[in-house]
Amino acid sequence: MIVLYIFLGLIGLLVLLFLIAVIRTLFLKKKEAYYVASNDEKRINEYANKLSKMVQYETVSIRGVDQADKFRGFHKVLEEQFPLVFKNLTKIDIDGNLIMKWKGKDSSLDPIILISHQDVVEATGNWKYPPFSGTIVDGRIYGRGTGDIKSGVMCFYQAVEELLKEGYTPKCDVYLGSSCTEEIGGDGAPKMVNWFKNQNIHLFLLSDEGGCIVENPVAGVKGAFAAVGIFEKGYGDLKLVARSNGGHSSTPPKNTPIVRLAKFISRVENKGIFKSKFSEGVEQMFAKLAPYTDSFMLKVVMHNLWLFKPLLTLLMGAISAEAAAMLKTTICFTMQKGSDGYNVIPQEAWVTANLRYIPHQGMNESNKIVADLAKKYNIETEFVTGNDYSKSLDLKGVPFDMTVKCINKVFPNVGVMPYVVTGGTDSRFFDPICDNCIRFSPTMVKGEQMKGMHGLDENIFTNVLPGAVDYYKELIKIQETR
Ligand SMILES: [Zn+2]
Repeated sequence: MIVLYIFLGLIGLLVLLFLIAVIRTLFLKKKEAYYVASNDEKRINEYANKLSKMVQYETVSIRGVDQADKFRGFHKVLEEQFPLVFKNLTKIDIDGNLIMKWKGKDSSLDPIILISHQDVVEATGNWKYPPFSGTIVDGRIYGRGTGDIKSGVMCFYQAVEELLKEGYTPKCDVYLGSSCTEEIGGDGAPKMVNWFKNQNIHLFLLSDEGGCIVENPVAGVKGAFAAVGIFEKGYGDLKLVARSNGGHSSTPPKNTPIVRLAKFISRVENKGIFKSKFSEGVEQMFAKLAPYTDSFMLKVVMHNLWLFKPLLTLLMGAISAEAAAMLKTTICFTMQKGSDGYNVIPQEAWVTANLRYIPHQGMNESNKIVADLAKKYNIETEFVTGNDYSKSLDLKGVPFDMTVKCINKVFPNVGVMPYVVTGGTDSRFFDPICDNCIRFSPTMVKGEQMKGMHGLDENIFTNVLPGAVDYYKELIKIQETR
């Protein structure tokens, strides 16, 4: 009898909590978020032509090859496009990695830096327009680097060029930074960071690529949102090796290396090995998106994470792979090798796994989870390479607040949401000299354009460039409020 009362009591409590959630949601005002592109043809054309010139100069970075001179050629292109920047700022060239220093009025303030890499990935395959042609057609510029991320370089250089033309002097020192090894994970950004360390400079704020303005970010949420990257996940490669005494495939023993690897992989895939958890940023992301959803039930869930977090954590995988990756360390098997003969049992077989680490299960813990499980299948784990997750931006801090204010001013109808960057950027190297790395490109990018970055037919809309230039101007100007 008592058990029944407890059971009924629990049901009653759940119903009550659910009703509270529903009532809270009824008070939530519906919002709409949309992006308005520029219609200033003069600016659009000018910026598109500048970006096109920058794309036409090929800057593919190649591992193990010193290409400083090639990048110095690119600096010349920049100088032609942005003469005032090169006339008024101090140029610091570190093996092709470029830093420009703009002296501010108050040198006691920590400076800010705007960065985006100069290098691009190679461009193979059949493109609609040649990848280094910078073709401008139907409101888009095509070419390698248009999206990732010469558009960023173009827009902040242009912002400074225009401010200089207006006779503006920034309050704090402003740096423009551009490594030439981002795409190969090279030493460009670390060299730039060392330069700052040697000058004893601590940066107040860094703005880099990461998120951008995206449409319909999560299933059920419609509209345009500035996805502001607040930290990036770590990166790691592991090699999982299974060994045996070999043997003949006509009399196969049980549990050959490939079978063990297959069982292990299947176990990882089917049951999962990493914990999903809502970080403060992801929680805020859902809370911020709640007013924009059309589905009432979804709104109830997103607006009441205090109640539905466990449920949402469970369902996230089904909702979106992107969103699920923000909650946990991910693992993906990428390369494999067995024996060299159709009829030969391998003495050694291996697969590699690529991991992206989340703060609540960082590099060491995640690698140990993989290694411990692998051991059960008699598989050895070798660590190939990796770096841990980056520091997170303080969502209550001044730099994040400044970012939101700039977005609201330049894109008043766009929603703002914190976002976890699942890929890698140069910003992570700046952690030791900057507490506030903001990973956000102020351009609107459609889903299909996202695939073009590192893929075929990379392109960007020309009418999103003026907004991006304005955003960087605001970010420089808002430093006056410090
Ligand atoms: Zn990039």
